[in-house]
Amino acid sequence: MAFLDRTARSFLLAELLSGMKLTFSYMFKPKVTLNYPYEKGPLSPRFRGEHVLRRYPNGEERCIACKLCEAVCPALAITIEAEPREDGSRRTTRYDIDMTKCIYCGLCQEACPVDAIVEGPNFEFATETREELFYNKEKLLANGDRWEVEIAQNLAADSPYR
Ligand code: SF4
Ligand code: SF4
Repeated sequence: MAFLDRTARSFLLAELLSGMKLTFSYMFKPKVTLNYPYEKGPLSPRFRGEHVLRRYPNGEERCIACKLCEAVCPALAITIEAEPREDGSRRTTRYDIDMTKCIYCGLCQEACPVDAIVEGPNFEFATETREELFYNKEKLLANGDRWEVEIAQNLAADSPYR
């Protein structure tokens, strides 16, 4: 009986027809896929992407070289060196993040008292070499300049819950 049933289904193309029925049933429904990279899905304000170092509106670096982010980083990915400036303010002379070590836990961002180091919304920073993922201060500040608007909006959206 089972043999006859299988044979009949093969000759009548039952699997093919049921597959086409399923395809046609989805043809006029809204698409659930995105045409990435031309279309992108929404990101949470808390999304933890590529790191940035932020500046104040007057261009001054926010980072005061307290090294809390370096101390809290569980992956030991952050390296900071600092010296006082002539005006007595304390600023970093070196701020490196080894992005190949980073586990994107967000602890550096949480520890920072001045919102200087932030994980921004950028997730498109794949590279072809490891060396490109050794970020220095210039790279991090440039990231901050590039993403400041989005990051400020995300921090404002998240601030009632912090
Ligand atoms: S996100 Fe976590 S692992 Fe990455 S640098 Fe910050 S503290 Fe370290
Ligand atoms: S980024 Fe923030 S936590 Fe890290 S050294 Fe600078 S001020 Fe301190």
